[in-house]
Amino acid sequence: MRKKMAFLMVATLMVSVISGCKGVSVDINKGSSEASSSESSSSDSSSSEDSGKASGSEAESGNKDTMFQVSLLQGLTEGDFDGSVSAAEYKTMGDTGIGTFDGLNGELVMLDGKIFRAAGDGSVEEVDDSETIPFGNTSFFEADSTQEISDVGSYEELQDILNDSVHELGANYFYVVRIDGSFSEMHVRSELKQEKPYGTINEALEKDQKEFDYKDIEGTMVGIYCPSFMSQLNNVGWHFHFVSDDRSKGGHVFEIKVKDAEISMDFTDDYKVVLPDSEKFQETDFSVDRSADVKKAETKQKILMESWLRFNIKGTPSYF
Ligand SMILES: [Zn+2]
Repeated sequence: MRKKMAFLMVATLMVSVISGCKGVSVDINKGSSEASSSESSSSDSSSSEDSGKASGSEAESGNKDTMFQVSLLQGLTEGDFDGSVSAAEYKTMGDTGIGTFDGLNGELVMLDGKIFRAAGDGSVEEVDDSETIPFGNTSFFEADSTQEISDVGSYEELQDILNDSVHELGANYFYVVRIDGSFSEMHVRSELKQEKPYGTINEALEKDQKEFDYKDIEGTMVGIYCPSFMSQLNNVGWHFHFVSDDRSKGGHVFEIKVKDAEISMDFTDDYKVVLPDSEKFQETDFSVDRSADVKKAETKQKILMESWLRFNIKGTPSYF
């Protein structure tokens, strides 16, 4: 097992190898090193740490859970779709999260320790432990605050509510969020598995993105919040995936209308990145700013704008 050093522009850095994982772990720690050392035996820590769960209270100093990240979203944008961490390994890093699968084979939703694939054909299945993951974020979920919401008219409106909470708790930390409830509208996307040689993520999405609209659906949105300093490593702000209560529908969330739901937020001040041990990763030039590609891949609006521009450049009459 090799150790590699990654240099990041964030305060305190520690480098360690996570047992059982092929990749390299980079810890970005707010200050105390206790969090990471206690977390290295993370596989069983979820329930024992739960004693500190105080619903409604803000982040306690005793709450030291960790957000794990497999690779960089910026790698995925360049077509690094080879899975580097198995589903079994991912389950030692968290029980709640998002991501994708080897070959960009659908959207990953992790909930209550189970990993689901919302596939490009609209189906949902629980994946085998041998399935591999090229990119994702996961954490052992502990709700630090909960909030009831109803009649939220759009994804943007929901993000405003979430942003208010984040600004109260601290906008420069990580959050894992689950939103359980009923949704009068749920617009999601997934994508078909890619074949090698892989193109970029936006080439894959232009070709093989599939969108699905659901009405009056019950389920859970699982999401993460990344602070603004994460623009070279992930998507800044919110990123949500959805899975229905009957585990038959899901995907990457583009738009919603909430009927009634409960938001549970997990404040997280410890962050670890597991970098892939692959040639493709080593050869990728991360000095290039790919935040625009990331935004385009993750948001509906940009895709619409691109289509609009293409139509207009071609001189095709537009509906807009
Ligand atoms: Zn997504």
